[in-house]
Amino acid sequence: MYGAIEAGGTKFVCAVSDENLNIIERESIKTTVPEETMALVFKFFDKFKLEAIGIGSFGPIDVNKKSKTYGYITSTPKKGWANYNFLGAVKERYNIPVGWTTDVNAAALGELKKGAAVNLDSCLYLTVGTGIGGGAVINGNLLEGYGHPEMGHILIRRHKDDKYEGKCPFHKDCLEGMAAGPSIEARWGKKAYELTNEDKVWEIEAYYIAQALMVYTLTLSPERIVLGGGVMKQLQLFPLIRKELEKLMANYVSMPNLDEYIVPPALKDNAGITGCLLLAIDTK
Ligand code: ADP
Ligand code: ZN
Repeated sequence: MYGAIEAGGTKFVCAVSDENLNIIERESIKTTVPEETMALVFKFFDKFKLEAIGIGSFGPIDVNKKSKTYGYITSTPKKGWANYNFLGAVKERYNIPVGWTTDVNAAALGELKKGAAVNLDSCLYLTVGTGIGGGAVINGNLLEGYGHPEMGHILIRRHKDDKYEGKCPFHKDCLEGMAAGPSIEARWGKKAYELTNEDKVWEIEAYYIAQALMVYTLTLSPERIVLGGGVMKQLQLFPLIRKELEKLMANYVSMPNLDEYIVPPALKDNAGITGCLLLAIDTK
């Protein structure tokens, strides 16, 4: 049996499956402080005899095996979690192999192996929610290096009609600062889901996301890009983003058919946890 932890800022999803990813049990645990949340995580896994565990965590996290703080959550503003040795705590408890990556890398792996990108060798997953984060599997490998990608914090060109200053505490008007859910709400003074019929909102949103996808296309050449997260529930964004991306690329390089290239997650909200299980199986 294999264990998986999809660790998010709001909730931790824990699951146990067999080697064919059939879920045996699953539980959602509120993210409070590490002592409290991890006690419940351990209580859940203690019931099983596991071969390996896969963790996909919110970040930033340390994924650099040469680093002294490998396996830590590093600089999150979430109380109690900064400098928390997450991987160490799980390894100490169970003494089995534990896979460790970002939540979005895990989601990319899930979609590649079991979701919208099956039969391909590479897939990029971008979540547009409370924040913006991206992960990728390229030629079968999770995209990691000195650290992990922070695809939400790239710089973008401002829309000519957009006067909003941006919400990123580090960069103000980076992609996340201009296009994540909270920035849409701050710009327009309404919840994002109440703005469905306001065309200008989604024109500007698509303009920013398409620029990001252009950068990822030009730098990483994934075979498919999966767009998830709360904001992407506004499905009218998909055609707007494809159209804008086509315009921006201006036929400079060829891309896959855009209807197949830019897609929603096939695993819906299970992309992350599926990827964590796959990570566990790979880690064994
Ligand atoms: P998180 O990023 O915290 O894991 P979500 O991916 O659900 O969670 O993102 C939450 C953000 O997505 C919020 O800012 C919210 O306004 C926005 N959001 C959630 N549902 C919708 C929707 N149906 N339409 C537009 N925006 C949404
Ligand atoms: Zn930023």
